[in-house]
Amino acid sequence: MSGSLYSWGQYPDKPQSGHPSNWRDDLPDLLGQVSRAHGTTLPYGNGRSYGDSCLASSDHVLCMRGLDRFIEADWETGTVCAEAGITLAEILAIAIPQGWFLAVTPGTQFVTLGGAIANDVHGKNHHVRGTFGKHVLSFALLREGQAIVCSTSSNSQLYSATIGGLGLTGIISWACIQLIPIRASQINSAVVRFSNLAEFFSLSAELDHQHEYSVAWIDCLAKGRDTGRGVFIVGDHAQFGTLEVGSRSKLSVPFTPPLSLINHLSLQAFNQAYWHVHPGTPKRVRGNYEPFFYPLDRILHWNRVYGRRGFQQYQCVIPDDVADVAMREVLEAIADAGHGSFLAVLKRCGDIQSPGLLSFPLPGASLALDFPQKQGLEKLFLRLDHIVHEAGGRLYPAKDAHMSGSHFRRAYPAWEQLEALRDPSLNSHFWKRVTE
Ligand SMILES: Cc1cc2nc3c(=O)[nH]c(=O)nc-3n(C[C@H](O)[C@H](O)[C@H](O)COP(=O)(O)OP(=O)(O)OC[C@H]3O[C@@H](n4cnc5c(N)ncnc54)[C@H](O)[C@@H]3O)c2cc1C
Repeated sequence: MSGSLYSWGQYPDKPQSGHPSNWRDDLPDLLGQVSRAHGTTLPYGNGRSYGDSCLASSDHVLCMRGLDRFIEADWETGTVCAEAGITLAEILAIAIPQGWFLAVTPGTQFVTLGGAIANDVHGKNHHVRGTFGKHVLSFALLREGQAIVCSTSSNSQLYSATIGGLGLTGIISWACIQLIPIRASQINSAVVRFSNLAEFFSLSAELDHQHEYSVAWIDCLAKGRDTGRGVFIVGDHAQFGTLEVGSRSKLSVPFTPPLSLINHLSLQAFNQAYWHVHPGTPKRVRGNYEPFFYPLDRILHWNRVYGRRGFQQYQCVIPDDVADVAMREVLEAIADAGHGSFLAVLKRCGDIQSPGLLSFPLPGASLALDFPQKQGLEKLFLRLDHIVHEAGGRLYPAKDAHMSGSHFRRAYPAWEQLEALRDPSLNSHFWKRVTE
């Protein structure tokens, strides 16, 4: 047993005891033993969820990282089957030299295949590919002592409930996914800064449909007519180049300082400099895929800079028809409070329906940013929640450690279907908080 696992935000302070699983054949016994001894448990991937959705309500999790083997790959069709504890980085390391890439990737490659399915993660190409779950062909689910193979045509109810099912329907032991073909591992991107939120929406309307990837970084402290200013980035897989797996050397934050290193002054200086350094007319950049998709992966354990109290990420999505007005209110509230992170990520989500019951994205604008855990944060979150809720939007469970049960249940009406299909031996702090 390994002790003291946390979520990425290191908040809430609920250390988890980890029970390692190394062999698929041993999983049924392990699940039985841990749930009998502690009431319930929960699969734990690589702990890249920020809040409490990857924390077992019993504080005893099943660690899935030991299940990291490839099962089979077909390089003619670009399908890969692997154990659920493999990371997306490990999949890319095998797939890129063969000319294939993940159809959907989140902003870190250090998540497991099982974790990516359980949160139905999305990336910079949501507007053209939808969520990760859309590219999951099949998986094996261990629940109530049985292994069940699920796909759109077989056990389809469990298939839908497990995609975005927060690890509650069973343990995914392996999964098969569809990759997309690439000719080179380089990304051709273009970067341009914009002066306010209205310019973001017009750039998004003009550019999103022309590019595979699209995202913006926002200066969350800018106020008045600068509200929502930022840097818009679009990109596409290069048509010519080499097929190289990223091998950037990694830096690391060696320990957790007692206090957060992020304060209002450092934030303001960084955000202003970042905006000014970018060009006012589009600049083309060609680079390998890692800095484009995973800029934060360069610094291992970067979450430690927030100190021992940890941090929370706030990620909401607001429907298209009110996105400009409501997003402006959200950004004004954040700038007024003077909290916030180095950079906030703003992106338009598309209308491709996920197969998942509780998938987060909806057609609209999504904003994500980090806040050091400190006094006064609850008051700001109450204000933001109110704006998001009134606008018909919702928060992302994978990032959440605070949303109220009533907001969750209204924003995710299918939660009762998930509850009906939950394996009774699995439960999380998040699920108890929002459903009981
Ligand atoms: C820097 C950074 C950038 C990010 N960017 C994005 C982004 O762009 N888009 C996005 O959508 N998310 C993003 N995330 C969030 C992250 O992608 C998700 O939280 C992801 O699900 C974490 O995967 P994990 O393997 O670490 O799983 P964990 O965080 O350990 O667990 C996540 C969920 O998966 C369940 N689970 C894990 N393994 C299994 C299994 N084998 N069977 C069943 N359930 C399982 C757990 O119970 C839990 O509910 C980002 C996170 C970080 C740290």
